Amino acid sequence: MIDSLKKIFSSTDQESFSGQSKPDISREKSTQLYEKAKQYFPGGVNSPVRAFKSVHGVPLFIEKGDGCLIWDADGNEFIDFCCSWGPLILGHNNEKVRESVTAALQNGLSFGAPTALENELAELILKNNRFIEKIRFVSSGTEAVMSAIRLARGYTNKDKIIKFEGCYHGHSDSLLVKAGSGLVTFGETSSAGVPKSFAEETIVIPLNDRKAVEEAFSQFKDQVAAVIIEGIPANNGLLIQEKEYVHFLREITQQNNALLIFDEVITGFRLGFEGAAAYYDVQPDIITYGKIIGGGMPVGAYGASNEIMSRISPDGNVYQAGTLSGNPIAMAAGIAQLSVLKSGVYKSLNSKALAFVEALQRYVSAKNYKVKIFSAGSIFWIAFTDKEHIRAASEIDPQSMEKYKVMHRELLNRGIYFGPSGYEVGFVSNAHTKTDLEKAKRAIFESLEVVFRNGN
Ligand SMILES: *Cc1c(COP(=O)(O)O)cnc(C)c1O
Repeated sequence: MIDSLKKIFSSTDQESFSGQSKPDISREKSTQLYEKAKQYFPGGVNSPVRAFKSVHGVPLFIEKGDGCLIWDADGNEFIDFCCSWGPLILGHNNEKVRESVTAALQNGLSFGAPTALENELAELILKNNRFIEKIRFVSSGTEAVMSAIRLARGYTNKDKIIKFEGCYHGHSDSLLVKAGSGLVTFGETSSAGVPKSFAEETIVIPLNDRKAVEEAFSQFKDQVAAVIIEGIPANNGLLIQEKEYVHFLREITQQNNALLIFDEVITGFRLGFEGAAAYYDVQPDIITYGKIIGGGMPVGAYGASNEIMSRISPDGNVYQAGTLSGNPIAMAAGIAQLSVLKSGVYKSLNSKALAFVEALQRYVSAKNYKVKIFSAGSIFWIAFTDKEHIRAASEIDPQSMEKYKVMHRELLNRGIYFGPSGYEVGFVSNAHTKTDLEKAKRAIFESLEVVFRNGN
């Protein structure tokens, strides 16, 4: 074994590190690109989460990725735990995905007519998922959820939606709504440009609070079309819900003739082929997918029973369409990725991720750091807290994000790439080897040493 590897494997969970900051990596080229980008795009980015607003420095411009590694424009190398925010469960530049896409490319990019590839991806999904009978492909998670909401309203002939504080469902109008004060409130818009009248159709309540759900249903009797929840809320920390609570949501929606929508844009094909529905053993009425389903290409989908899906046009009167929906290149990427996943990846991936998370937790506990690592399958979230569980958005201390900021900088300087916000989760991909995870662990230990060098 080469010396550097020996050193990595010999590091124990109890080892102490110096608590010294590392010098900043070069961001010369990224800075130049960012200056240019700011002239072209609002905030220099095409999605706000990419801006380094709440962490140190300018956003890194990425040039290429391979396996679990990415390289930025300055040639810095990182072990990537963002993985394009989730889609790349097999890592970057996966050979099977690349080959499938390259083959599809030879036949043209888009036809606006059906192709066999759509059938193939649908078959792969529907034959291996107990929870949906029919599916419709769209081009993003946002579009999937927006369509699912329309379908729920069309199906129930009701207008109001109950959503939870701390769940993100994309940027469509009805869902860009935040909680007001009080247990049950009409939402307030959380973006300019969302009409107040839209926000009033969305009721926002805290997670993990049965009383709030009951009150919402009694206050808005016979007006609620659907309750929407993220399979496991993973866009505002990782807010793992208890099984009993999720089953309670199933029961109360049924009693009130409302639909239960599982937004599985992150959890779908991440926790397993049947996502959070299987994780909680609950049958939602509509499930939305995105991210992993497209293998890194823009794909979303929503699925439900034959009966509910029959309400979608052209069969039914709920309209939903897309020029590039079911795009052949995107389908090819999805087919390749899901085929690899189906061939048996989850068990080893999830146990690899669990061992990583447990080692981190042992270390921070031994050090008495106010840190807890929450995880579900290969999703993890490093929270600066001493709480045993965090199940609602309000339980996250905004002050703790200062610690994340320090850690993020130290990690980048040690070749570890995390999403640029402490509210974001990390992902272990199938391409992360044990050696990569050992390296990452060591970098995380060192970085935490810097974060806590002046005490908790
Ligand atoms: C990412 C995400 C979305 C939005 O998907 P986009 O492809 O970014 O539009 C919606 N819901 C959940 C749960 C997500 O994680």
